[in-house]
Amino acid sequence: MVTLPRIILKRGKEKPVLRGHPWVFSGAVAKIEGEVSPGEVGQVYSQGGQFLGLGHINPHSQIIVRLLTQKKEELGEEFFRERISRAMSLREDWSRKKTNAYRVINGEGDFLPGLIVDRYGETLVLQCLTAGMDRLKGMLTHLLVKEFRPQSIPHSIYERSDVATRREEGLAENRGLLFGKDVPEFVEMEEYGCRFRVNVKKGQKTGFYLDQRENRFFLKELSEGKKILDCFSYTGAFSVHAGSGGAKEVTLVDSSEEALAMAEEHFSLNQLEKVPHRFIRGDVFESIRGLEPGYDIVILDPPPFAKKRGHLPSASRGYKDLSLWAFRLLNKEGLLFTFSCSHHMSWDLFQKIVFSAALDSGKSVQLIRRMGHPWDHPINLCHPEGEYLKGLICKVL
Ligand code: SAH
Repeated sequence: MVTLPRIILKRGKEKPVLRGHPWVFSGAVAKIEGEVSPGEVGQVYSQGGQFLGLGHINPHSQIIVRLLTQKKEELGEEFFRERISRAMSLREDWSRKKTNAYRVINGEGDFLPGLIVDRYGETLVLQCLTAGMDRLKGMLTHLLVKEFRPQSIPHSIYERSDVATRREEGLAENRGLLFGKDVPEFVEMEEYGCRFRVNVKKGQKTGFYLDQRENRFFLKELSEGKKILDCFSYTGAFSVHAGSGGAKEVTLVDSSEEALAMAEEHFSLNQLEKVPHRFIRGDVFESIRGLEPGYDIVILDPPPFAKKRGHLPSASRGYKDLSLWAFRLLNKEGLLFTFSCSHHMSWDLFQKIVFSAALDSGKSVQLIRRMGHPWDHPINLCHPEGEYLKGLICKVL
């Protein structure tokens, strides 16, 4: 342990760490003792000399340390095996029969900062967001294979470390096969009885928006006989669930031609060709203005508008504009499913925005439910930044 670099915090900056927050910002550091290279393990101490924990250091990142433990322990294979196995057992019972696609490891939420692993059938997709996890890629791949072996998976592990945030860590983007057979262009998966084909090599995120699973299922239960507008549809997952729930008609809007082509395939794959559906390729902000009112359900699931706190004012205008138009298009008794996937957008602010859109639309609106991410996306309570998805389900009276 003595050979590990030591990070000494400024006076008072130990408080969040003592409460269990896994991040140390560079501004909180008084001194670094020893040479450090990105991704190395270091020890964190308070100004008064108290040991606070061990974590991955990256001097190039604003988050200079991501703590892995508050104990003095060996951060070797057994440590990571135990964390991976704990993450897997959380999903085991629940995923059975409901889906074969879910998040296996959710970074900080599973006490493995910087590591994301998603499962799509027999394929695992791994994403390293930090230099520390990047260094451990080989060992993590080996451990995942070993821990999943009793279930005869994975057949392949594919890396999708091609996210922009890696640049803030001084890391290049990486993708490619880490283990097993080459991954086909499309991997098939099942979610609550609906089938989807996922492009894990090139699709958005790791190929699919797993975090919306329960919200899609909720929509399915309400879709019978309804006319539905699915804005920011991506490959049509909400629409397919709506169709299989008996929707009368579905309109999908997205700017990505590839995503809409896949959505069309998803209708066939689920034998939903007979459900009237149409695709609008374009910018939702423009397209929504040209639609005739008369929808029973409108879904708004845009990309994050506020990746940084400073974006909140423009993000708020975006959410307000979309909600206002959605309320205008909705019938009496109609439902709005509106989501924000920006951590910086709080529940309170999001609700106020939707409320002000309701006021401007001149309609009377009830909030009937709040929906977040499902439990394969757990949140470490000491790390509230992990909670990003916020959904409000509103009813027009
Ligand atoms: N609802 C989807 C996920 C949506 S992700 C699901 O359940 O799978 C956000 C989508 O918005 C992406 O497919 C992206 O192509 C699309 N998008 C981003 N900006 C857009 C815009 N201004 N107009 C239309 N689509 C947009």
